[in-house]
Amino acid sequence: RFSFTVLKSRGEEKKSGIIAVLQDVTEQEAMEKERKEFVANVSHELRTPLTTLKSYLEALEEGVIDDPELSRRFLRVLLNETDRMTRLVTDLLQLSRYDAGQYMLDLQPLSVHELLQDVFERFALRSQQENIALQVDLPADSLPLVKADRDNIIQVLDNLISNAMKYSNENTTVVMRAHEEEEAVRIEIIDEGMGIRRRDLDRIFERFYRVDKARSRSMGGTGLGLSIARQIVLVHGGTIDIDSEWQKGTRVSFTLPLYGENEDET
Ligand code: ADP
Repeated sequence: RFSFTVLKSRGEEKKSGIIAVLQDVTEQEAMEKERKEFVANVSHELRTPLTTLKSYLEALEEGVIDDPELSRRFLRVLLNETDRMTRLVTDLLQLSRYDAGQYMLDLQPLSVHELLQDVFERFALRSQQENIALQVDLPADSLPLVKADRDNIIQVLDNLISNAMKYSNENTTVVMRAHEEEEAVRIEIIDEGMGIRRRDLDRIFERFYRVDKARSRSMGGTGLGLSIARQIVLVHGGTIDIDSEWQKGTRVSFTLPLYGENEDET
């Protein structure tokens, strides 16, 4: 699509001409469309839990409050929904900070081994409760240190492992793997869960894109986990990819740059 603007036209005896500007507005329009969709999505995502809160509060007001057992159940729902809304707003704020370039990375030399161990321990209980085995699979030789912001990378790993478990059934395994590549360490999270269809895969890193909205919501998802993981990996100078086979499982893999030997001298 092009916009056509006439800046000047003049007619003389012999020569006449037009100065015009042809501008490709395709990208501009696409951005505007994306922005509108985003605002519509945010409004919808916030209205859904608010509707739930309101109906449960009304039920309590209309008499459920006199039934202690039912009240407790309703309060649990109310707390879960408010938690999810808080997560949603926190995630949105974080994304908008990245969009605006307003973020600080505390780049340190980090051991991938320690990072994965840390995440493993935090998910150990959930893994037991949900009966999904969690494994860390590292090469025998020690991996080089990566240059990354610890809290940020922990967040990426948390998002990816929590997805792997969320979309897997009992008696399956989630594996965290890492190996060295040229100038980077590659970390992979592999599950044997429900997988993602080819047609959804291309859009999966988009904000709020979810294969099954109801399932994601009921599991406390916000639809922003993968977008945030992607942003964080990109600002570190890494890459992130996902491949998946429907009903077989999913593999998300990302890279982190190595911590150069001379870096602490600069
Ligand atoms: P959510 O909060 O919904 O989990 P994400 O951005 O983390 O949001 O993921 C987006 C969607 O991608 C999910 O709703 C789900 O449909 C799909 N997805 C993500 N990770 C996996 C996985 N490991 N296996 C299957 N589907 C996944």
